[in-house]
Amino acid sequence: MTKYIFVTGGVVSGLGKGITAASVALLLKSRGYKVFMQKFDPYINVDPGTMNPIQHGEVYVTYDGCETDLDLGHYERFIDEELNYTSNITSGKIYSTVIEKERKGDYLGATVQMVPHVTNEIKNKVYEAGISSGAEFVITEIGGTVGDIESSTFIEALRQIQYEKGEENTFFIHTTLIPYIFGSNELKTKPTQNSVKDLRNMGIRPNALVCRTPFPTSDSIKNKLSLFCSIPVENIIDAVDVKNIYQIPINFYNQKIDEAILKQFKMPIKQANIKYWQDLIDTVDNLKDEVEIALVGKYVELHDAYLSVAESLRHAGYKYKTKVNINWIDSESLEDSNVDLKKVFKNSKGILVPGGFGSRGIEGKIKAIKFARENNIPFLGICLGMQLAVIEFARNVCGIKEASSTEFKEVCPEPIIDLMADQKAITNMGGTLRLGNYECTIKPNTLAYEDYKQNKILERHRHRYEFNNKYKEILEKNGIVFSGINEQSNLVEIIEYPKHKHFIACQFHPEFKSRPTKPHPLFDSFVKASIKGD
Ligand code: GLN
Repeated sequence: MTKYIFVTGGVVSGLGKGITAASVALLLKSRGYKVFMQKFDPYINVDPGTMNPIQHGEVYVTYDGCETDLDLGHYERFIDEELNYTSNITSGKIYSTVIEKERKGDYLGATVQMVPHVTNEIKNKVYEAGISSGAEFVITEIGGTVGDIESSTFIEALRQIQYEKGEENTFFIHTTLIPYIFGSNELKTKPTQNSVKDLRNMGIRPNALVCRTPFPTSDSIKNKLSLFCSIPVENIIDAVDVKNIYQIPINFYNQKIDEAILKQFKMPIKQANIKYWQDLIDTVDNLKDEVEIALVGKYVELHDAYLSVAESLRHAGYKYKTKVNINWIDSESLEDSNVDLKKVFKNSKGILVPGGFGSRGIEGKIKAIKFARENNIPFLGICLGMQLAVIEFARNVCGIKEASSTEFKEVCPEPIIDLMADQKAITNMGGTLRLGNYECTIKPNTLAYEDYKQNKILERHRHRYEFNNKYKEILEKNGIVFSGINEQSNLVEIIEYPKHKHFIACQFHPEFKSRPTKPHPLFDSFVKASIKGD
């Protein structure tokens, strides 16, 4: 029978619930158990696809094309399992299902209510994840903070699950804050006590506490928390601030959180295979060199807007024992004609242009791409970054001065990037994105082939516009190689420019498939080229 682990948060947001959930999952997996993860987000948006990245950070895309919260990226990077549409549920998704059922008459005349109709729908999502994944453990993180109006229905659903499945099948981890008060120079437990009280008022007694704290807590603090919160001392875990989030699973392992869970479930504490993760930490703690890579985007004031891209650069750096320092550049700031690009990119050994939507800042990105191309600086373009790379090339090498995308200019004389004919019809009916995995065939004897070392790959997508094949010939004549193609729809997936040291761009998002112990091939070779300068 599936065991359910829930991770709630108290006191303040931003305590690292997602990392806590992912770390617990990693530890259980390392003991040979099959795990699956999901996140509940209490907001009304059906998914984060339409949310502003500056507010919400990046949208993470699963292989089956679900636009999800960035925490799912942490989950996949930690547990190295592909998650799916059952992994991210929002209030909006739940409400729209309930309303749809109500309209169809599925409730047979009943008055539709938060309890039981909405809570049943939430419970179904938890159970569905267990059934469809076949996992022994489903670890569910509840977004928001206990006590928020928004999350109260989710908490109520979890209470019902605890009642239905019993303590032998459910485990609640509550993450809280233990603040340090200067002056009295003490760590304080009161906010945690109050937050556990809030949870108990809602009918849930947590089984473990994960306490975010600047210093390890003393036995007396743990004893006090244990007494006030009715939680065994050994289930009170410190989450001491760390420089590197990948350290957390090891810190939790040392405090035996996974053993506490297995004990409650009366499951065997199998040997943990955690050495590979310890090796990763040793690598990360002992990086020998540094390299600066410029990331030119329009949401750079919130680094989380490019979380997976930044992580992917770091992962590739780990492989070469090199710390990747990101030079965050606001693309709009490059549009000023007085900007000295040599100064901006002075120490940057590689230039990356990531994905994005809309026309703001694109001319700045095009300037950065031109600079990379003309100065033989390793370049990686992702999604919008690929589209702008071909626009730049068409304008400045092929002499197609008006080259642009119909995303930026509705009436575009030279639509190098455009909607496909069949898409145009659909777009008129509300628009649609190409999401999730699509196959790409790689041409032999190309940089892409050197990177992937295979001719068929699957990569995740999130875009609407495509390279317009009418311009293929002229770009090819001028030296662009179309090294990756989706054969089914004849769509361009990867382009490269062999006259350059390392110039490659892709229509998909490789950053979603990079793992700390397995850098993505495109990031690997880009970071390597940036380090080596060849
Ligand atoms: N805006 C572009 C498109 O829709 C690129 C999207 C992206 O970079 N994710 O095709």
